[in-house]
Amino acid sequence: MSKNLVIAIDGPAGSGKSTIAKFLATKIGATYIDTGAMYRAITFKALSGGFIHDIHKIIEFSKSAKIKLTYENGRTRVFVDSEEVTDFIRSSEVNDNVSEVSRIPEVRAELVKIQQKMGQTETVVAEGRDTTTVVFPNADFKIYLVASIDVRAERRLAEYLENGVQISIEEVKENLAKRDKIDSGREVSPLKKADDAYQIDTSSLSINQELEIILDRINKIKISKQIK
Ligand code: C5P
Repeated sequence: MSKNLVIAIDGPAGSGKSTIAKFLATKIGATYIDTGAMYRAITFKALSGGFIHDIHKIIEFSKSAKIKLTYENGRTRVFVDSEEVTDFIRSSEVNDNVSEVSRIPEVRAELVKIQQKMGQTETVVAEGRDTTTVVFPNADFKIYLVASIDVRAERRLAEYLENGVQISIEEVKENLAKRDKIDSGREVSPLKKADDAYQIDTSSLSINQELEIILDRINKIKISKQIK
């Protein structure tokens, strides 16, 4: 049996992780793991359940909840205890609270367990903030994406508008800057570039250019590790 390939992509919000991860997963027939969707799902349930300010309840919930991700036809679907929450996890309310929830170490420990299990047997493309450093420290290929704040804000604004959310570019920038600060500054699993990660600035690259760079690297890694 040939070894499963693990590709991990980290970077700040709006750096283009999910777009490239989806393209890449489809291209190489891998399972796409959107780790951010899991933190968002817990945040959504804490908001709708009215316990967003109760850290103990959030921890308790993250330990008992069954979080499941599926990826079909270019779309990630997220389930919590069999209830689909896909359509609710990208709201501005979730955006405003998710970094506070994801800085809780016990929550991270629970979600990391699920993510690592997925990468044990399947070929995966995982993306998030700690997939290259904590979830898959031995990943076959680690990528760290960056982009300017203006480009990141434009991308997020387009996503909001697509989903019918009215928001100004200033508000988007403010939310991105706030999340960057919490995600990079937290004690547990902060967002940072792993020493052995390959950094790509996506500010002025098209998806095809980015994909080409990554596929070229993956082919070289496969040859050197004799992975089919
Ligand atoms: O990637 P996305 O923007 O959906 O992530 C939402 C939030 O979830 C991030 O701002 C971060 O606070 C948290 N997150 C995390 N670790 C990950 C993925 C996401 O802390 N691996």
